[in-house]
Amino acid sequence: MDRLYLVVPCYNEEEVLPETVRRLTDKLRRMEEKGLVSGDSRILLVDDGSRDRTWELICGFHQENPVVSGLKLSRNRGHQNALVAGLMTARELCDITISLDADLQDDIEVLDQFVEEYHKGAQIVYGVRSARDTDTAFKRSTAMGFYGLMQKMGVDIVSNHADYRLMSKKALDCFSGYHEVNLFLRGIVPLIGFPTAVVTYERSERFAGESKYPLKKMLSFAWDGITSFSTKPLSLITGVGIGVGFLSGLGLLAALICLCCGIPVAGWIWVLVSVWLALGIELAALGLVGAYVGKTYAEVKARPRYHIEMLLDSGKVSEE
Ligand code: UDP
Ligand code: MG
Repeated sequence: MDRLYLVVPCYNEEEVLPETVRRLTDKLRRMEEKGLVSGDSRILLVDDGSRDRTWELICGFHQENPVVSGLKLSRNRGHQNALVAGLMTARELCDITISLDADLQDDIEVLDQFVEEYHKGAQIVYGVRSARDTDTAFKRSTAMGFYGLMQKMGVDIVSNHADYRLMSKKALDCFSGYHEVNLFLRGIVPLIGFPTAVVTYERSERFAGESKYPLKKMLSFAWDGITSFSTKPLSLITGVGIGVGFLSGLGLLAALICLCCGIPVAGWIWVLVSVWLALGIELAALGLVGAYVGKTYAEVKARPRYHIEMLLDSGKVSEE
């Protein structure tokens, strides 16, 4: 039977934790009874340097309830880092992990479906929101704009999937090979490959406390997502440079032809055309530098080149 760890990052979550632990403990027990996961499955609460009583609560829960495990970060490092800390710790202790937020906005009744998809062979299962009714119009439109922009930039992410996700030990082992510091998990996980599945669910509103993701954090998160996964903005510069250069080249040619045919060309046209031509050449050159910067960026990240899913080998070594 597979051992499941529910990985829950918590930042100043004292208001929601007692209820969250109660609901998750109950859910885990029901999953055990159904024979989906083993009896020694756990809830791993990761305290991301909270300033309130979050860690004291976690210690208390751990003492009275063996199902609760705790991990404390030395200071606030942000949701994505807290999540990775939890996942990398759990990887050594279990067969499957499911990450979810402490406020239980993501419907925990679909946890069974996650594990069932894993048993069918999926190494990664994405939780995808079926509707965004509970969001404000602002959050909904910015989110849709973000997914659209990411896709235009050539970044492979699953639309409407946050970090509610099952990852097997195998997937996590591969994930540990990605050493980048600017974390954007939703972009990295699809790079891993392996069979994956999707589970849809409805997201409710936070039952207590307030969002730890203000607009400023959301914007910097989106910016991180684009700049960590796409060098398209750099190639865009080259394209613009070539376009501008080409058009002003045409203008110059036209002016020269006019001159040869004896048609007078006003002085300002020469100035205009040469300024634009110089700008085009400069932009194209900048784009060329950008191409090398982009490649250096990819090398510096040193992402794994591939992951092996399976090897079939009879074990006989050829003598020749
Ligand atoms: N979180 C965290 N560190 C932070 C900010 C948030 O670990 O610096 C956790 C938070 O406790 C919650 C999850 O990340 O479990 C998502 O945060 P929140 O629910 O506030 O975001 P929202 O759902 O409003 O986007
Ligand atoms: Mg939330």
